[in-house]
Amino acid sequence: MLLKAQEYEHSYSIFTNSSMPEDHFFSHTSYTGGSTIESNNGKIPVSETFFHTPDNALELRYRSHADGKWDATVYRSGKRGMDHFEKPAFLSLWVFSLSETMTENDLPLIRLMSEDSSLSSGLSIVTLNANEWQRMLIPLDLFGNIDRDHPENTIGIVFSQQVNADAELHTLYVDDIEFMAEKPAHSIILKPEIKDAKGYAMHVDINWPQITDPNVHLVKIYRSCDGSIYQPAGIQQPFINRFADFTGETGKNYSYLITFLNSSYEESEFSEPVSASTRVMSNDELLTMVQETSFRYYWEGSEATSGMARENIPGRHNMVATGASGFGIMALIVGTERGFISREESVERFLKILRFLEGAQKFHGAFPHFMDGPSGKVEPFFGLRDNGADLVETSFLMEGILAARQYFSRDDEQERLIRQKITGIWEGVEYDWFRRYRDGDYLFWHWSPDQGWIIDHRLIGWNETMVVYLLAIASPTHPVPASMYYTGWASQGHIAQTYRSRWGQSTDGDMYTNGNTYYGITLDVGVNNGGPLFFTHYSYLAYDPHFITDRYTNYFVNNQNIAKINYRYCLNNPKGFKGYGEDGWGLTASDGPFDYSADEPVIRQDHGKLTPTGAISSFPYTPEESMKALKNYYFNYGHFLWGEYGFRDAFSLTANWCSEIYMGLNQAPMTVMIENYRTGLIWKLFMQDPEIQEGLRKLEAE
Ligand code: CA
Repeated sequence: MLLKAQEYEHSYSIFTNSSMPEDHFFSHTSYTGGSTIESNNGKIPVSETFFHTPDNALELRYRSHADGKWDATVYRSGKRGMDHFEKPAFLSLWVFSLSETMTENDLPLIRLMSEDSSLSSGLSIVTLNANEWQRMLIPLDLFGNIDRDHPENTIGIVFSQQVNADAELHTLYVDDIEFMAEKPAHSIILKPEIKDAKGYAMHVDINWPQITDPNVHLVKIYRSCDGSIYQPAGIQQPFINRFADFTGETGKNYSYLITFLNSSYEESEFSEPVSASTRVMSNDELLTMVQETSFRYYWEGSEATSGMARENIPGRHNMVATGASGFGIMALIVGTERGFISREESVERFLKILRFLEGAQKFHGAFPHFMDGPSGKVEPFFGLRDNGADLVETSFLMEGILAARQYFSRDDEQERLIRQKITGIWEGVEYDWFRRYRDGDYLFWHWSPDQGWIIDHRLIGWNETMVVYLLAIASPTHPVPASMYYTGWASQGHIAQTYRSRWGQSTDGDMYTNGNTYYGITLDVGVNNGGPLFFTHYSYLAYDPHFITDRYTNYFVNNQNIAKINYRYCLNNPKGFKGYGEDGWGLTASDGPFDYSADEPVIRQDHGKLTPTGAISSFPYTPEESMKALKNYYFNYGHFLWGEYGFRDAFSLTANWCSEIYMGLNQAPMTVMIENYRTGLIWKLFMQDPEIQEGLRKLEAE
C-alpha cells in the first residue's frame, strides 16, 4: 500500500497583508502613563500608502514616555489546515521610516509570543535609514528558547517601547513578518510570463503558467493605467497561478506585469506586459462570472494526483475532501456545459477522479471525510476517531457522480467507462450497514474500522443530511426500507426530539415539524427558525426539492421559506451588525475570524459574519434577494472580498475582518445553484435517473 505523501510545507508567516483596510483584525494595542500608540478600535492601523508588499503594511505611530509604556501585538491568523510548516531558522521582517533616520532608542523592542502568551527575550533594531525598506533577519535562537519544530507555537510578535524613552512621536511601518528556513535564497532565473488577461465589470483576471521553481516565494503583480507607469497591485502565493485585480472601475484599460520574488525578496526580471479592459456587464454575465470563478476552485485548484477538491485554499495541499469533491463534480458538469472547459478535458478529469475513487480506501463501500490525494488513504483531519467511513460526505459525493452518470451519456468508449465506474462505486456503498442494528431506525454518520460506532452520531432531520436517507432508500444494491424516512430521519420519538432540542437549544421543530411563524412566514419543517442556509443547499444541489414532498411539506416551499426567514432576519438585524440589510444577508456555515462556525438567524448564532454562499446559493429560492446580495458583494466589497476563485468565504464589517480562504463546501454550491436557477441543469440530470425516481416512489408510498 502507498504511504501517505509528505504534506506541502508553508512558510510560517505572521503578517503579509491585512485582509481589510484601516486596521489589522489580528492585532492589539495598549498604552499606559504618558506613552501612546495610535490605534483604530484597539487594533494596529494599516497603511495603503507605505508598504513593502502590496496592499498594505502595519503602521506603528508611538510616543515612548519614561512614566509609561506601550505595546503593539500582531497575531498570526491561523488558517484551517495550514498546519505543516518549513522548519524556521530566522525571523524576517521589513521596516520603513519616512524621512527620519532612527536609532535604537527610537525603535521598538521586539519579542515573540508563544501559545501560553509568554514572551521571549527582547531584541532591538539598532538603526534604520530613512526612506528605504530594510530587512531585519534575526536568528531565532537570539529570542531564547523558540520551538523551531513547531513554529505554530509562536502565535505573534510584540513591539514595545525601549527603556530609554525619548518622548518624541515616531512612525514605523512594518511588513512581511515571517519565519524563514535556513535555505539560501537563490536568484530566480525563470522569466515570468502572463498567459492571459481578461476584464470583467470591476476587475481584471490574469494568469500565468504553474510555477515549479521552489525558489519562488511570492509572485508580484504590477498594474498600469497608461501602459508606462506601473504600480504594485498585489502579491500571490506561488502555488496559485492566477490573480484577480479588483480596480473598482468599469470601462478602463489596464496593463499588467509580473515578477517573481525569492525568499530575500529579490526580484526576477519582468514579464512582458498584457492588457485588458473592464466593461459593463449584464446580470446574466455577472452570474456566469460568479459560476466560472467558483468552478475554478475545483478545476485549477484541485489536488493534482486525484483531481479531487481540497478542503480549503490555501490549506493542506494533498488532503482532499469527499463531500466538497461531490459538489465540485457538479460544478465541473456546469463548467463543461457552459464551455469553461471542453468536453474532452472534462472526460479526462472525470476518469482521473473515478480511478482515484476506485482505488481509494473505503469502509463498507463508504468513503472517509478526508483522504490523502496522492495515496487515497484516509486522513483523520477531524481527530483519530474519524478514521473510517463518513456516510454524509459519501452521499454528497454520490449526488455528484450520479448527476455525472446522466451527463456523460454519449455512446463512446470513454463516456461508457465513466458510467460503468460510477455504477460500480455507487453500488458498492453499503447503506444498509450504517443502520448499525438489524432493525435499526436510524442511519449512523460514521463508522471506524478499529473503533466501530464510537462517534455514535445518528442522522436525524431536519438538516443538511436528507440526501443520505433518500439515497439509502434508492440504492439498488444495499437499500434500507423507505419507512426509515419516518422512523429515523423524520422521527418524532424521544431520541429524535432530544437530539433536535439539544442542538437547536429550542423546542421549535423538535418534532421535525415546526408550524411556527417567523417574520410572517410559517415554517412547516425545521429546528429553530430553519437553521443555517446550507441545510437548504447541500441535499438539494442534485435532488430537485420541487419533487420532494413528504407527509409534512414540500421541500422547495420549505427551503424557500427558510431562505426568506434568513433574509428577513438580516433585514431586521436585531444585533445591529454593520452591512446587514436587503443586499447583505445569508447566515450559514463558514470560516470565521477564529474558527469555522455555523451561523443561523437566531441571536446566539449570529456573530455579524456574512457568507456570500448563503445568499448566492439560495438563487432558486430567492432570485431577487440573491441578485441584490451578489451585486453588493461584488461591486461594493470586491476590493477585499473578490479573488481568484470568486468570493472569499466570509466577512464581518463590524469586526473589519475578511476570510483569507475559499472553502470547498462553499464555492461549488454557488455555481450549481445558480445553474439550477438558470436552466435546472443539475436537477434535471439527477432526477432523470431511474433509480432516484424509484427511491422517491417508495418514499411516496409510505
Ligand atoms: Ca504587505
